[in-house]
Amino acid sequence: MAMPRTIAIDGPAGAGKSTIGALVAERLGYLYLDTGAMYRAVALAAQRKTIDPDDAARLAALAGSVRITIGPPTTQDGRAYTVLLDGSDVTWEIRSAEIDRIVSQVARVSGVRDAMVAQQRALARKGRVVMVGRDIGTVVLPNAEKKIFLTASAGERARRREEELASRGERRPRQDLLNEILRRDRLDTEREVSPLKAADDAVVVQTDGLSVKEALERVLGAISPRS
Ligand code: C5P
Repeated sequence: MAMPRTIAIDGPAGAGKSTIGALVAERLGYLYLDTGAMYRAVALAAQRKTIDPDDAARLAALAGSVRITIGPPTTQDGRAYTVLLDGSDVTWEIRSAEIDRIVSQVARVSGVRDAMVAQQRALARKGRVVMVGRDIGTVVLPNAEKKIFLTASAGERARRREEELASRGERRPRQDLLNEILRRDRLDTEREVSPLKAADDAVVVQTDGLSVKEALERVLGAISPRS
């Protein structure tokens, strides 16, 4: 049996999807798309235009008009990819605490999702891809050949987030990060459109206590065709 051509990796904030997704794509030589970066870019565009994160009509119009491009890293500064918003590099700006705070409100607007999902599907049609997000296996690519649901306890995810920020020289109290993660979990799982949940046919990978290398091996093990 051949390797699956489309691989969907979903899971809650901080479960390691981006790290593991990028490594899986690199190992297999597949295209990698972190769809969270797209919602973050829309949130940043909204913030710049001072659009209220609850103003669904303006957010939908905005999502339909901004140009978001995600491609290979243009600088070697630790980034896994470069995100352009209307041509300007926003790779790090979309990771700010302010964007963490508003992104799930922006992502629950169905008009925003429609615009992003159309682009995600167009990209998947190009062929071999690892796509990472919340609704990839359930909504964006329900026919993905392999679906992984990567998860970890909220405490573990807050600890990892603290480490990740520290590696970039940023310090935020772990309790704040935990509260932020729990808030985003709630918004992402309870929203009406495309809520975060494992697809019925997803392989669930629990990563508490696993190193990145161990989690990667589990995921690759789940992806590899059994002969
Ligand atoms: O994965 P990341 O934490 O960067 O995603 C940021 C936010 O974007 C999530 O909390 C979620 O609200 C939204 N998102 C989504 N659907 C996706 C990917 C991300 O709603 N496929």
